[in-house]
Amino acid sequence: MKKTNVFILIAGIMVLLFTAACSKDDTIETKQTIVDPLADAKEHFARLGYDGVEDLSIEKITHPITKKTEEYYLLQGDILMPKQQLKEMANKHSNSPNAKHYSANDIVKNLPRFIRVAGVTGSGTNALDNIAQQALRAAINQYNALNLSLKFTIEFSANPPLGTEIIVQRNPTLSSNARASFPSSTGNPGGLIFIGPNATSRGLDMATITMVHELGHCLGLRHTDFMNAAVSCGVQLPIENDDTGVGANLIPGTPAAPSGDPGSIFATCPRRLNTKPNFTNADIIALRQLYGPKMNARCVNGDPKLLIASVHGGSTFVNLNSNLRWQATRSGSWIDMGPVTTGAGNHTFLVKVASFFNQSEECGPKRYGRMVFRAIDFPNMPPEIIRVRQNERRPPPGHQCK
Ligand SMILES: [Zn+2]
Repeated sequence: MKKTNVFILIAGIMVLLFTAACSKDDTIETKQTIVDPLADAKEHFARLGYDGVEDLSIEKITHPITKKTEEYYLLQGDILMPKQQLKEMANKHSNSPNAKHYSANDIVKNLPRFIRVAGVTGSGTNALDNIAQQALRAAINQYNALNLSLKFTIEFSANPPLGTEIIVQRNPTLSSNARASFPSSTGNPGGLIFIGPNATSRGLDMATITMVHELGHCLGLRHTDFMNAAVSCGVQLPIENDDTGVGANLIPGTPAAPSGDPGSIFATCPRRLNTKPNFTNADIIALRQLYGPKMNARCVNGDPKLLIASVHGGSTFVNLNSNLRWQATRSGSWIDMGPVTTGAGNHTFLVKVASFFNQSEECGPKRYGRMVFRAIDFPNMPPEIIRVRQNERRPPPGHQCK
């Protein structure tokens, strides 16, 4: 499960060392100031949600694969991070300090959707054994039970059919438990999972942990402790990095510090601290952040949740931002939302409110209505509502309402 990608340093993209814009040449400063050379780094670690930033030093480390020696920050004696990586993360993620799960730059798009998974069976060397097949089924059930805006379907075949989006097959020579790919830049899930012989040698629950973990990669989840695999693996591994532009984006709402969720099924070594293939609470938060059901309707102009029309009527746009299948209704025929009443994903409605003006009646009260957007597959989800109010008919100058 461990990926040993090598990080390419993108030097010089971000200059973090600010020089003071105004010097104090005009004041006579006799007191000597002691400047902490690590002050910037400490601040960046703190902004990323790390504790114990006072215990920070610099180490020179030779990478075991590239044999390249570079400077790393060593935080609290156990978190190693290349100097350049901290700069990039601090710049990119300064707004989400309390996070710990990471997603790749590309995640699955075009929601809602079904993802067709096929496990390879048959007599070939790529065929999944019995435990792997059961584990794959169990893992898929576990994802589907989360009621995300994507669901997996599963089939088993010696020759996965056209249209299969994730093929799961055995790789008899794989030394790690398994290997999986990340989503494509076009928003399709990672298409391959290779299962090594070790993955099924310790029983169904352990094999299911592996399947859940690998499916997570196919959805764009990176290792929660990719910066410090010792959190789950117990030993320091080369820092898993990103030479393919995969990216590592903090997922808001997940616990602070790399050790915040050591039992995560998306940790580098999830089978070391877990015996059951359960998601942690933070795993679920991360999956819901990326793929949880969303529905939000907003008026383009004015109050986003209240459409106010004049007595003569008018038209405006309402944007529905959703990753679900939905149904749109309105409370009266005087609110025209156009021909589309059901759909999936984002949609813009052109809403026309009929005239409320009536020559024969000089006066009239305001009228009230609503547009309602319901998630078809999530009956318990509260509907999105935009209220509509149309102004009263006022009397002509000099007249009075009775
Ligand atoms: Zn992994």
